[in-house]
This record gives sequence, structure tokens and C-alpha cells, in this order.
Amino acid sequence: MPLTIIHTVQEMQALSDSLRMKGKTIACVPTMGYLHDGHASLIKEAVKNHDEVITTIFVNPMQFGPNEDFERYPRDSERDMAIIEASGGSILYYPSVDEMYPPDYQTTISVSNISKRFEGAFRPGHFEGVATVVAKLFGATKPHTAFFGQKDYQQTLIIKQMVKDLNMGINIAIVPTLRESSGLAMSSRNVYLSDEEKKQALVLHSALMAGHSKIQTGTRVRAEIEQVMIDILATCPDFTIQYASVAEAETLETPDIFNKNKDLVLLMAGFLGKTRLIDNILCLSKS
Ligand code: AMP
Repeated sequence: MPLTIIHTVQEMQALSDSLRMKGKTIACVPTMGYLHDGHASLIKEAVKNHDEVITTIFVNPMQFGPNEDFERYPRDSERDMAIIEASGGSILYYPSVDEMYPPDYQTTISVSNISKRFEGAFRPGHFEGVATVVAKLFGATKPHTAFFGQKDYQQTLIIKQMVKDLNMGINIAIVPTLRESSGLAMSSRNVYLSDEEKKQALVLHSALMAGHSKIQTGTRVRAEIEQVMIDILATCPDFTIQYASVAEAETLETPDIFNKNKDLVLLMAGFLGKTRLIDNILCLSKS
């Protein structure tokens, strides 16, 4: 089946309504395009148990800060369409900025507590932009389930909280981070990295693995776990750390000493040259 491409809210809602009337299950995979195998893994996962998978492509100006890369964010819609089709996606929702934010647009969604630290602290307004656009994409695509990557860990918690608080009645499925064989987390922004920087970027994964090992040895003192990660990141002088932290996986709380029974998440972000990179891994208490 060729990919159905939809540009307007009205047409998207009408298609989703008719699919629901026919008893079809709908999955939504929100993206900003310039798709890679990580995005494809979300679509493939969604295809497994949904009749129709709607991939959305929208580079959302509301979630970019004034000095961020909105203008130069990579775009390649032809290639994206081929990846969606090859992954089994049936529908592409590809609205314009004017369609999403007409001149009289007024509403913003803010998920308060969980947005404050980590990404929220370094990218003011980012999560308001994310929550707002995702709510709008849900309103247009009317999915039963939406798929998100663990790569953006804090984002997954924010979306889950929003769906719960606003009674949206949508299942949120989280898909593990897909990595290059080197360990580098796949990201559309990796295209900004030179070959040399791609090698240097592996320091993030090494630091996460070291933090993970530290926890496996039984340590639950936050400062000790974070120091191990910071020491490894410091071996790459071109990497400027924004945060390298450990938090409770469910709440992102950061007590000085963690309870042994809590799942933890190691989170980090920073700049390699001009490129901002983030990564994380989970440390499950029962593993
Ligand atoms: P983006 O286009 O970067 O906004 O990402 C769209 C979705 O793909 C988000 O839910 C991301 O978390 C997810 N994603 C991005 N990179 C990866 C990856 N390497 N593995 C799995 N999911 C990813």
C-alpha cells in the first residue's frame, strides 16, 4: 500500500475518525523528520500490534529556544517517506507551521514539576513546546497508542504525565534507544558531527556504562555515581557538560542516597563543539 500523506488537521481527523469507525487500531509516532533507524524502530514496533501507523513529521518551532537550531534542523522529506514505507508505516501526517499554529493560536500546555530539571533547566520553554505539540498531534491523529523513544527519557515521563492529567486515554509505549555499533545513540543531530567528533561522542556512552557499573557494585550515593561519569566525560576536553546525573527513574527525584529498590536513570547532556548531545540509560533494581 502506498503511503497516504496528509497535510491538514481536518483531513487527518476525518481519516482517523473513519478508521476508528471501521474498528481499526491506530498508532501515532511523532517525529521531527530526518528519520534514522531509531525512528524506524518505533514505526516497526507500532506496526506489530496496530492496523494503521501514523508517523508525524513536524519541526516544532515552539520547542526550540531562540539560539537553538530550528532553522538549520536537517530536513529530507523524500528520504523520510521511503523510510516510513520500508518500516511498514501506512500514513504520514505532515502539517505546515501555519496549519499547526494559525495567527490566532493561544494555548500552551505545561507539565510543571517533572519539566523543571535536566533538559527543562537548560532549555527553558522546551517541554511546554513538546507537550503542546504532542497534544495537538494527538488531537489530529486520535491514536490508541503513541510511541516514543527512551532516547528522550524526560520527555517520555512528561508525555505520560500529560496523558494522565488530561485524561487523554492514549497508551504510551516506550521503545529502547537504538545505537550505532559504536554505542553512539542515533540522533538526527548526529549529522552535525564530523568523523572526529563522532569518535569523541562515544565518551557519553562510556560514561553511562561506568555509572551503570558503579551502581551494579552496590553504590547508591548519588555524588559517587555522578563523579564516575563526570571523570570519564572530562577525558574529552571538547565536551562541555551541562549535566551528568542519576535520578529515580519514575520521578526524576535526586536524593543524596537512593533506595536500593528504586529503578534509576543515568542522564547526561552537553555540547560537543556546537552540537548538543543527550543520552541516558536505565538501571533497573531487579536486573
Ligand atoms: P525526534 O525526531 O528527534 O523528535 O524523535 C522522534 C522520536 O524518535 C522520539 O520519541 C525520540 O525519542 C525517538 N528517537 C530518537 N532517536 C532515537 C533512537 N536512537 N532510538 C529510539 N528512538 C529514538
